[in-house]
Amino acid sequence: MPKVPIRRLLEGQTAIVTGASSGIGKAIAIELGKAGANVVVNYVSGPDKAEEVVASIEGEGSHAVAARADVSNEAEVQAMFAQAKAEFGTVDILVNNAGLQVDAPFADMTLAQWQKVIDVNLTGQFLCSREAVREFKARGVKPEVSCAAGKIICISSVHEVIPWAGHVNYATSKGGVMLMMKSIAQEVAPWRIRVNSIAPGAIRTPINTAAWDTPEHYAELLKLIPYKRIGEPNEIGRAAAWLASDDADYIHGITLFVDGGMTLYPGFETGG
Ligand code: NAD
Repeated sequence: MPKVPIRRLLEGQTAIVTGASSGIGKAIAIELGKAGANVVVNYVSGPDKAEEVVASIEGEGSHAVAARADVSNEAEVQAMFAQAKAEFGTVDILVNNAGLQVDAPFADMTLAQWQKVIDVNLTGQFLCSREAVREFKARGVKPEVSCAAGKIICISSVHEVIPWAGHVNYATSKGGVMLMMKSIAQEVAPWRIRVNSIAPGAIRTPINTAAWDTPEHYAELLKLIPYKRIGEPNEIGRAAAWLASDDADYIHGITLFVDGGMTLYPGFETGG
């Protein structure tokens, strides 16, 4: 863990982080707050957990507010952006983090299981990104705040490139996020809107407890990770704070893999 204090790279900016009451989203919200941003802590259920994240951000000296919205519901997403603008004036940063898994063997997967994952993981990112781009275009660049009119970070997964048996709906949603992100990036660059993804590897959160909750499971997991440890949520948080900042101003349309080398084909470690 770095010992130097984080610079307040995002002072004067407002960020919406979806699915921010737990796991990676919570860590991103806290790190953006530490970097000086006002943070809208989106959640879909459990307001108490979202309020804890708000309190933690305020404890570090930044402003935060909780906002309930189902990211797959157009009206609720629009109401969340309206709430953010009413509270903080505008939105400078969107982190599309909300996501879920509904796993099933492919032959048994119901249409409802398929649709739920696509709705939240892909359509949710579309709905939030569209509102963000509308706001960024309408406002334009404010040089005293940032070189860019706005920044979007999509939380993807190593499964945007690694196929995943038993999780076809999830891998499809993340593969979709990859080309959605790149296509939006290509379209909105002339407005100085930056769009990128972060693809986490295995990170210690509630979504994948079964992969690290016993020594046996953890040992199996490490076979997939050349760096031989699981990642922690704040490692994604710090990457997001940097990627959203002007230090990363020329980075556009890429996926930043934060995965301890999971995408390096570790099965070939011993020569294949
Ligand atoms: P998590 O379950 O703790 O977080 C997901 C969050 O999304 C939860 O807070 C949940 O309430 C929220 N959410 C679900 N449906 C929603 C909806 N309709 N509207 C708003 N919010 C909703 O798990 P996590 O690991 O922190 O996952 C965060 C993101 O990171 C996801 O997009 C996930 O796919 C991605 N990811 C996680 C890992 C990992 O190893 N943990 C790896 C790669 C990618």
